[in-house]
Amino acid sequence: MNSLAARLDALRGSSPPVPHTAKTLAALTANPECDRRALLDAAGVDKDALAAHLNLPRPLRTSAIALDHGAAFERRVTAQDGAELVRLLRETLDLTLPEVSYEDVNAVGGREPSSLSLRHTHTCNLVLGAARDKTRARTLLNHPVLRLTVAGHPAYLEPDIVAFQHHETFHIVEIKSFPVIDGQADPAKAAAALTQAAAYVLALRELLTEGGLPPERVSNRVVLVNPRDFSHRPIATLADAAQKIKSLSRHLGRLRRLPDLLDQLPPSTTFDLAPDCEANPTRPREELAAALSAPRAHYSPGCLHHCELAHFCRNAARHQGRTEVLGTTVRDDVAGIDNIALALALTDGHQHPSRDRSDITQALRHSQRVHADFLAGMT
Ligand code: SF4
Repeated sequence: MNSLAARLDALRGSSPPVPHTAKTLAALTANPECDRRALLDAAGVDKDALAAHLNLPRPLRTSAIALDHGAAFERRVTAQDGAELVRLLRETLDLTLPEVSYEDVNAVGGREPSSLSLRHTHTCNLVLGAARDKTRARTLLNHPVLRLTVAGHPAYLEPDIVAFQHHETFHIVEIKSFPVIDGQADPAKAAAALTQAAAYVLALRELLTEGGLPPERVSNRVVLVNPRDFSHRPIATLADAAQKIKSLSRHLGRLRRLPDLLDQLPPSTTFDLAPDCEANPTRPREELAAALSAPRAHYSPGCLHHCELAHFCRNAARHQGRTEVLGTTVRDDVAGIDNIALALALTDGHQHPSRDRSDITQALRHSQRVHADFLAGMT
């Protein structure tokens, strides 16, 4: 085991690592400047277990009903060897009739976690076989398993459907159960789907590179399949994931600077919950909170939607009176002033601004006057 892996293991402690998914990778891009999250994710720390031990409220999980609905929609789209999906892809990717062969990777090893490596090998064989042999029918893979290197560790990713080759190019196909109404999907959900698809694109590119093939054969354009309007009928759209792919690559690259982040921690820092023989955590909460406070955080209200530790970081940011608790707009508007008390002191003249803060101080004082005029107009 190399020393980086050993240091990350020590940070995680005695629990097994939580594997990455496309969702957790997507969350990396939601707050790329947070060292705390980068370390926790790289070490595979179970953030939900930390939050539970610290008695923190956690982000709402997808309900069982929503999960069932999503699974039913996927089954509908992929039923009968993907007949409906093939029809959609013929329209979206402009395929001609003889171009499709359908393979379900689940046929090898089932969907148990222990079969991931086997299914990954099978996926590699199918993808590389299709990529090298131009005379073969174009291949549509259901339930493939891809692998992406994250912070030096392999992470297995399981797209709903992968790779479709058209004009020697692979396309990622993602099936999502949120609707497209009048041609428009919920922008936040569509962006999240594209970020997840970006992880699959990168993983598929890694597969081709390892097979000695050009990674550019995986398209930046992904196919999203959603229910149309309020029906169960699917609609497919081609979406450009280039920006998301670039952004995710950059954030994965940042994980390579883990040794620097680890060096900044006090020696022997660990997030170990010290479970007893019945798996109940025994770590004193204050001690765990102190360890969690060691890496630099970068809280923003958006954390409440994507990170299990949001309430821990929000409490700390409030305690320190940091501007980010007022939202990213305020934080960005008063960039360079990271403390609410300082902003107020500059506004009411209790503190004289340095030269580089004179513009922002004028802006704050102007806002205060507008606010005072507004209040006066209401009386
Ligand atoms: S909640 Fe905390 S650890 Fe999670 S991303 Fe936000 S600042 Fe980082």
